[in-house]
Amino acid sequence: MTRARTPDADVVVVGAGVAGLRAARILRRHGLAVTVLEAADRVGGRIATDVVDGFRCDRGFQVLNTAYPALRTVLGPDGAELLAMRTFVPGAAIRAADGSLRRFVNPLRDPARAPGSLHTLPPADLAKLAAWTARVLATPPRRTALRTARSAAADLAAAGLAGTATETFLRPFLSGVLADRELVTSEGVVRLVWRSFALGRVFVPADGMEALPRRLAAGLPVRLHTRVEAVTGGAPPVVRTADGETAARAVVVATDAATAARLLPTVTAPATRTLTTWYHTMAEPPAAEPILHLDGTGGPVANSVVLTAAAPEYSASGRPLVSSTVVGPAIPEPEVRRELARIYGTGTEDWELVHTAEVRGALPAFLPGRPVRSGVALGEGLFVCGDHRDTPSTQGALVSGRRAAAEVLRALA
Ligand SMILES: Cc1cc2nc3c(=O)[nH]c(=O)nc-3n(C[C@H](O)[C@H](O)[C@H](O)COP(=O)(O)OP(=O)(O)OC[C@H]3O[C@@H](n4cnc5c(N)ncnc54)[C@H](O)[C@@H]3O)c2cc1C
Repeated sequence: MTRARTPDADVVVVGAGVAGLRAARILRRHGLAVTVLEAADRVGGRIATDVVDGFRCDRGFQVLNTAYPALRTVLGPDGAELLAMRTFVPGAAIRAADGSLRRFVNPLRDPARAPGSLHTLPPADLAKLAAWTARVLATPPRRTALRTARSAAADLAAAGLAGTATETFLRPFLSGVLADRELVTSEGVVRLVWRSFALGRVFVPADGMEALPRRLAAGLPVRLHTRVEAVTGGAPPVVRTADGETAARAVVVATDAATAARLLPTVTAPATRTLTTWYHTMAEPPAAEPILHLDGTGGPVANSVVLTAAAPEYSASGRPLVSSTVVGPAIPEPEVRRELARIYGTGTEDWELVHTAEVRGALPAFLPGRPVRSGVALGEGLFVCGDHRDTPSTQGALVSGRRAAAEVLRALA
């Protein structure tokens, strides 16, 4: 096939994850002809919901946060209703080494229940945690994003939070969120994550996490089953699929980092992290409240929650659904149930496995030295976005999509 010389479209976006969808929506709003090419049979990328035996099983335990500014922007003032937001208790219940279950409730989000948290940590540690949190909240996120010199573990140690506070609370809490048990993630990323947990409430949409990308994709021309094999910069830039070549005035590569690095030689892919989530059902839920259960003893299960306590819609039959996540590849399921018996303090022999989601490449690793925010305009009509250009989160992916769209608009003006 001869190479097209006249642009067929204003912009081709490669990848219909939330970053690509966000970029495409903005570009369309500005009157550009946009085509989104997606390799898979559905939109959403890493945000997916599988329905298994009437249970909604997100592809890995994932939540949204009301404090994500980008989410507020894309959903608008009616966002909570549009997504039918189902919130969790803002805090965590931690199974300690002495067998006790300690509840920590975020005093900024639920002051009435927070006093019960005073025994979660020794008073000196609580005071240091409050002081560190205050510093995190007082710093504008743009400045926080520049903190890439040291690891989260070093940052917490410098704040006097090594030892009990990290081992019994911060590591169990953060390791599942970052898929990083060693807390080697860059301090800036961890501070931004902590900021959203301090200020916001976590939730899932009643229809499952995939409701978000489905909403973002509404009305957009997305071509599914269309894998981009190559991208060439130039005037015009060109994308190649099995069907041939398409020239555009701009091409936005919105894939995962590894694919972006294959398609765009100037992009380097960070290492990625794996998360595995088990979904179980049982006769009675092991906890009445939708609160994240953590293991303060360093066991393999990073977190577990009764999803249906927050979102009854996740179960068609009314039976409970519990989601439990391990950092890394799958471990034997009976081991997971053994750990859950200890974490919840209840028998789990009769629990039935509904589904397992092992997600390789779940999150890009942001180690010290890697900028939290990387450039999105590559020259020659090529642009890149995705959670590897901002924080490794839905918020980061959405922001990267917005930044890429702004650069495209500037270039095509
Ligand atoms: C298990 C798990 C738990 C998570 N938990 C949270 C959480 O609690 N909170 C949070 O904020 N974030 C969480 N995240 C992260 C969040 O889901 C991601 O940061 C976000 O979805 C990334 O979006 P993206 O658009 O950058 O990339 P992706 O979602 O990876 O989208 C890339 C798209 O490009 C497509 N594609 C790839 N190659 C090609 C090609 N050659 N041609 C055409 N299309 C291609 C893919 O099919 C995909 O649709 C979690 C992620 C996982 C996996």
